[in-house]
Amino acid sequence: TLPKIAWIGLGIMGSPMSENLVKAGYQVTGFTLEQEKLDRLAAAGGSTAGSVAEAVRDADVIITMVPASPQVEAIAYGPDGILAHARSGALLIDMSSITPQTSIDLARAAEEKGVRVLDAPVSGGEAGAIEAVLSIMVGGGQADFDEARPIFEALGKTIVLCGPHGSGQTVKAANQLIVAVNIQACAEAVVFLEKSGVDLKAALDVLGGGLAGSTVLARKKENFLNRDFKPGFRIDLHHKDMGIVTDAARTVGAALPVGAVVAQLVTSLRAQGDGGLDHSALLRAVERLSGA
Ligand code: NAD
Repeated sequence: TLPKIAWIGLGIMGSPMSENLVKAGYQVTGFTLEQEKLDRLAAAGGSTAGSVAEAVRDADVIITMVPASPQVEAIAYGPDGILAHARSGALLIDMSSITPQTSIDLARAAEEKGVRVLDAPVSGGEAGAIEAVLSIMVGGGQADFDEARPIFEALGKTIVLCGPHGSGQTVKAANQLIVAVNIQACAEAVVFLEKSGVDLKAALDVLGGGLAGSTVLARKKENFLNRDFKPGFRIDLHHKDMGIVTDAARTVGAALPVGAVVAQLVTSLRAQGDGGLDHSALLRAVERLSGA
């Protein structure tokens, strides 16, 4: 029989991901802060709970997909939380993007309660979540990874054990560095092209077919063309991730000269009230710099 799953955090990513597990035949009990997201899971065939404690009590596998380290810590360590209420032997898979150190600490604390942990952040965005083609970067033990693999296969396509606890988060931090710098390069090209009077759609079509083509350019093309910055992936979350990668890189002595500049532009966008927009809104930061 399939493991019983508790899913905490039904946001842009967690909703479609948990629904993919329901479609794959898993019994999923969800908990999140918005009632309409709970209703959505129920309509898709899942069950809902009124608290973390209720959701995790008899789960075999507990999956968390929440914004950042403070939420993971509250959900894991709180009096109503996972470690206080999960059964011994449960497997906790945190798919949020958080600091590698938080994942390492969580694994150690959970071990004392007989709960096993994997960090398993993802890349591929909302579209990747809906289509179950996410890239899943995992940190933890081989046996736990093997046990979780069928679940990962219902959510994603590229599934890799990267190393011990925290490794998945370190790889995700690198992912976010690459994505932010890539969006920034595209945004600079868009402003340059528009100021030059070239047809933007024609330009992006042909750029997409050459070495300048990327998943970022393909996925964000319509955002740039239509100036549609509905998230997607919020600037607030990318701000968090640029903080994670710049801190982690400083700790190990890796210089990120370009990433650090892009991190500053993300901070600036957020300070100007654009934190709720999609990260393709880096275009706005570049436009402001160019008086466009
Ligand atoms: P979101 O803000 O849309 O959803 C977060 C969910 O967590 C919300 O439903 C909220 O109710 C829930 N939550 C927060 N605190 C909670 C608590 N104490 N108890 C229960 N539920 C709680 O965020 P998202 O875009 O789905 O991102 C989730 C994580 O995935 C983040 O770490 C993000 O960086 C990462 N991520 C996002 C994307 C993307 O494209 N959106 C892609 C890859 C990774």
